[in-house]
Amino acid sequence: MAVEVRPRLTVLSGPSGVGKSTVVAHMRKVHPEVWLSVSATTRKPRPGERHGVQYFFVGDDEFDKLIANGELLEWAEFAGNRYGTPRQAVLERLAAGEPVLLEIDLQGARQVKESMPDSRLVFLAPPSWDELVRRLTGRGTESAEVIERRLAAATVELAAESEFDTTLVNTSVEDVSRELLALMTVSSGK
Ligand code: 5GP
Repeated sequence: MAVEVRPRLTVLSGPSGVGKSTVVAHMRKVHPEVWLSVSATTRKPRPGERHGVQYFFVGDDEFDKLIANGELLEWAEFAGNRYGTPRQAVLERLAAGEPVLLEIDLQGARQVKESMPDSRLVFLAPPSWDELVRRLTGRGTESAEVIERRLAAATVELAAESEFDTTLVNTSVEDVSRELLALMTVSSGK
């Protein structure tokens, strides 16, 4: 019996600080065949981040326009900034039959599931709560207030694991990337 190989949208989500962007950076480097959506955000770039690579860094007015013109597949406000997925690029890649990966927050993941029920939601879980706190505090680029807000968001996000199709525990970036790639490219079911 032939196994159906059907590229579809995969959404990687999970609490802030769990290591989603590290996994995505690793995927970008080691598995360039996976197309990664680049989100628009009103957040200011962190050191080393480049426009068009990690994000499209836009102003509030520009973000308003993206929403008004229906150009975002989903968007959400997170810790005082707005983030959204440009719709057209995602649809084009899916139409071309390429595996597509989004790395977005929980609110965005829910919106994608709603508008594209065939998408697969993957929850990236920390090995433990203590480890998550350590990672959030250790990044060293955020103020105490921002860390506080992110921990509050993480508490809510951890409780949402059951809404997801699959959980991957972030024990190592290599293992998670391998598992993610396998999920995206091999199976026909969930
Ligand atoms: P950061 O500021 O650390 O890069 O990202 C903060 C949060 O925003 C992360 O949880 C990240 O997954 C999420 N995020 C990044 N891009 C998007 C997007 O396009 N849409 C949504 N809903 N969340 C996003």
